[in-house]
Amino acid sequence: MKHITRRSFTSLTSKGFLGTALLGSIPFAKGFTPGQNNKKLGIALVGLGSYSTYQLAPSLQETDHCYLAGIVTGTKEKESVWKEKYNIPKKNIYNYENFDDIANNDAIDVVYVVLPNSLHAEFCIRAAKAGKHVICEKPMAVNVDECDAIINACNEHGVKLAVGYRMQSDPYTHEVKKYVKEKTFGDVLFVSSDAGYVSNGNPGQWRLDKSLSGGGALMNMGVYAIQTSIYGAGQNPISVSAQEFSTRPEYFKDTDETITAQFKFANGAVAHMMTSHNANGNRLKVHGSMGWFELDPAHSYGPISGRTSNGNILEFPFKKQQALQMDDFAKHILLNTKNIAPGEMGKRDMIIVEAIYKSISEGGKEQVLVLGNLGIVP
Ligand code: NAD
Repeated sequence: MKHITRRSFTSLTSKGFLGTALLGSIPFAKGFTPGQNNKKLGIALVGLGSYSTYQLAPSLQETDHCYLAGIVTGTKEKESVWKEKYNIPKKNIYNYENFDDIANNDAIDVVYVVLPNSLHAEFCIRAAKAGKHVICEKPMAVNVDECDAIINACNEHGVKLAVGYRMQSDPYTHEVKKYVKEKTFGDVLFVSSDAGYVSNGNPGQWRLDKSLSGGGALMNMGVYAIQTSIYGAGQNPISVSAQEFSTRPEYFKDTDETITAQFKFANGAVAHMMTSHNANGNRLKVHGSMGWFELDPAHSYGPISGRTSNGNILEFPFKKQQALQMDDFAKHILLNTKNIAPGEMGKRDMIIVEAIYKSISEGGKEQVLVLGNLGIVP
């Protein structure tokens, strides 16, 4: 049972959350009707950069269980633009300095941190201290210690935590996870996964500045390839070996350009991943003892596309992944459904990121991973 502080207890009871949590095993808890406006959770986006502007805010117009209630921005001019566009009351608009006052605002239930990676820990911890549930964008932080600090703060303050792993809510991901679990194509033998794009933008951008990003392609796109390797294999790896390649050192001065890595799994399966800021990649292919399946594209905003060795083309109705993801987290809070992208999953991926960098620094030496089932959501 999670420890609940006086402040978070008051905040939760005032919203009826404890009641709904206790009733969580009932498919739709008492007093809750899906799609009913006054029961939607209020989300505040922290950091109004491109992902908040072009993906999260539009997706929040399509969610059933949550809505865009507030914003936190360091840019004064954005306040009036967002206020007008999304009808956000002035009392729900914060900057980075007065952000902690959000503790006194009952209209905000969830804080979604969408800042450069090295700021995730600070703002997630401040949100937890304010008694707000937290969504932290990927990568969860810039090292494992920061992931632990976020998880501990959320536990201590009795709030729920998810990582912004939108692919975990995508129906194509659910389908390939089912193939692996049900051995539709036999035992998994080999997984190949790529996640990269060609970066040509402003060399001063935060993604190329290690102090803000924590690393290059691996931190940015690499987490997708780590995730697909794991759900393609259906289990956590037991070791990793990695290599780094550089062809444009004048542009990628501070961060990694291209990384490849090989994972071993306890059942003998092997995975190979590639991530890059200088080569395109967007694919998952899984070879089993009785056939194969692939997603290509595998992790863009959608629609995703997939096919199998028995000639099937995967086709699911399109809905914005971010809308599905935020609704999944809202349902976890309101109805006690499972958290499909918990903090432990973000921490597990950061343990792997650190092991990949260590392997590279040791000339590709295999690193043992002792993960158990950390971050695996059955
Ligand atoms: P962005 O550069 O477009 O926006 C960053 C925002 O942070 C801006 O509003 C900027 O003003 C603000 N900011 C505050 N302090 C800053 C500082 N010291 N330096 C730079 N900017 C600062 O970035 P983005 O693409 O919106 O990415 C934000 C986060 O979202 C990152 O963690 C990224 O990995 C994640 N992201 C996730 C996905 C996904 O598919 N899940 C997609 C894109 C980005």
